[in-house]
Amino acid sequence: MNPDISNKARETSAESNNSLDALAAALFRPMGVDGVYARTPLYEEVIDRLTAFISRHRESGTEILRFPPVMSRHQLEKSGYLKSFPNLLACVCALHGTEAEIRTAADRHEAGGDWTTSLAPADLVLSPAACYPIYPLAAARGAVPTGGLRFDVACDCFRREPSKHLDRLQSFRMREYVCIGSPQEVLDFRERWMKRAQHLADDLELSYRVDTASDPFFGRTGQVMAISQLQASLKFELLVPVRSAEQPTACMSFNYHQDHFGTTWGLRNAAGDVSHTGCVAFGMDRLAVALFAKHGLELRKWPAAARNALALG
Ligand code: AMP
Ligand code: ZN
Repeated sequence: MNPDISNKARETSAESNNSLDALAAALFRPMGVDGVYARTPLYEEVIDRLTAFISRHRESGTEILRFPPVMSRHQLEKSGYLKSFPNLLACVCALHGTEAEIRTAADRHEAGGDWTTSLAPADLVLSPAACYPIYPLAAARGAVPTGGLRFDVACDCFRREPSKHLDRLQSFRMREYVCIGSPQEVLDFRERWMKRAQHLADDLELSYRVDTASDPFFGRTGQVMAISQLQASLKFELLVPVRSAEQPTACMSFNYHQDHFGTTWGLRNAAGDVSHTGCVAFGMDRLAVALFAKHGLELRKWPAAARNALALG
């Protein structure tokens, strides 16, 4: 490798990290934990406008649902999440039992002890992605109609991956368009969205490339899962050079789950064929951080196309 080039690359990422630190001061306020931040009105204005921008591109016949930040533990377990990402999952725990038992645990804290040893898991997990609850919900409605189903879902997501990097949060917002239908319907949906998403990124004047990707499956068996996911081109990402060009940030993903959720939840058409599913996920916080990193902190100085896309007047 040419040492000049690698030095140059290191300098560039150091510079961009410094400018990201400057962004953090304007966009976020600390809440005492890495990757969990209070958001300023400037930041939220861009999130709101991005949300509206993505809504404007919603396909007709798409049903909108907004989910809370928690979901059924049973449903996520049944979805196979623990096989793939046990390290990222957070479970809601609470003090259960009689008044006396709960009081004893809480008093232990008051006495300088550890109340958390009395915690027991509840029937909830923090949602690690927005689309998990939609599959059982759709399955409960009966046969998947001809032409398939499309949903627009969103929630606050949690993944236990603490980091000081602004583009890797523990608590972040995800918006998704989901398709349930025949393999061809789902592949067409993903194809349409991969094209449309690049137009959206063009409109926002973000630099990007789209590439095949794999999920960060846990452990050694996870590596095998990642390789087969790559080989089957099940996941693509829209990557934006936020921190550096060498390690671009995935701001959107385009996922084909084949029959995974269809089989798990008994999603079938009237003829009894198992439905396939796919989703396009927008990392709202990553997109907002990417926009500020590219265009700066003064919205009125953002390029005309981006201002227009975000209806900044
Ligand atoms: P994934 O299900 O991993 O493809 O995630 C969907 C989208 O959520 C990604 O493309 C990111 O934009 C966003 N995302 C995932 N993890 C994080 C994180 N730790 N912090 C912020 N955004 C994230
Ligand atoms: Zn999804």
